[in-house]
Amino acid sequence: METIIKKIDDESIAEAKEILLNGGLIGMPTETVYGLAAVGTDSEAVKKIYEVKGRPSDNPLIAHVHKNYDINKLVYVSHDYVYKLMESYMPGPLTLVFDSKGVICKEAVCGGETLAVRMPSHKGCQKLLAAVDMPIVAPSANLSKHTSPVTAMHVYNDLNGKIPLILDGGKCAGGIESTVLDVTGKVPRILRAGLITREMVERIVGACEIAEHKEGDRVRSPGVKYRHYRPRCETALFAENELDKANRLYDEQIAAGKRPYIMCADYLDEHFKGKNVLKLGNTGEEIASNLYDKLLEGETEADIIIAIAMPREDGVYLGIMNRLRKSCG
Ligand code: AMP
Ligand code: MG
Repeated sequence: METIIKKIDDESIAEAKEILLNGGLIGMPTETVYGLAAVGTDSEAVKKIYEVKGRPSDNPLIAHVHKNYDINKLVYVSHDYVYKLMESYMPGPLTLVFDSKGVICKEAVCGGETLAVRMPSHKGCQKLLAAVDMPIVAPSANLSKHTSPVTAMHVYNDLNGKIPLILDGGKCAGGIESTVLDVTGKVPRILRAGLITREMVERIVGACEIAEHKEGDRVRSPGVKYRHYRPRCETALFAENELDKANRLYDEQIAAGKRPYIMCADYLDEHFKGKNVLKLGNTGEEIASNLYDKLLEGETEADIIIAIAMPREDGVYLGIMNRLRKSCG
């Protein structure tokens, strides 16, 4: 199968709609990362998503809908705070987990009773979702375990020959996957950290828990237990107070004839003068937006990416550190 990249516009959206309604898959942009999309009621199409990605069959998919879609068609909304959250943060990088009404096929939810729903804010994606006017399930458009794609070319590099069309909507502004928030209980609970932070949820609801994923726990969001986001080169991760160790490893790698790259926030750059550095930016938002792009740039150049951890884990940094540990730890 030939894979074609097309700029997202009315014509390519019409083509994508045709493919989706006929049981096919496409690559679509969102404001977080690129998604591998299928119609959520089509079991055969959804099975193809798992095949194409090599995704474990117990890791459910998020249903994406346009901003005027009535989510009551798909799920039971049990708590009024949900509407306040939706008003504040949707469309946007927030996924809500509800009790499902069973409209989405069982393959997409891995036989579970809950459904994760999101309204992407990416303009082109909204247009596509409105044109199809059906829930579109989509995991990130990468091969399972690999770094998530934030450009159409990243999708092409992983899925070339496996899907007919990738809609190019530019580089994803958000850069890390959506916050996954369980809203089945009285207090919302973060299952996966992202750009909508605990603090932002607390501001609207008054309280917000963070699910801990300890050994032996029943895992509520299956995706968090897998090795994830790995670039195709060696990696190492050091804390901010271990810059000397990072420098030593770098020098050892050079001495061994290897090509190491440091990956760090811009303000640490001065500690690595004359070295290869993948610079992530300065603010949490910049760093989130550049993280996967730099990992994917790094894997084409480096034998090893030596990453430096963030100085904090509140706000957006929680989601960044979660990805950094899985990709480089
Ligand atoms: P991906 O789209 O590849 O970023 O993965 C989607 C994430 O959402 C994974 O971590 C899934 O485990 C999680 N997820 C999807 N559906 C549900 C659900 N019904 N309950 C809990 N987590 C979910
Ligand atoms: Mg993924």
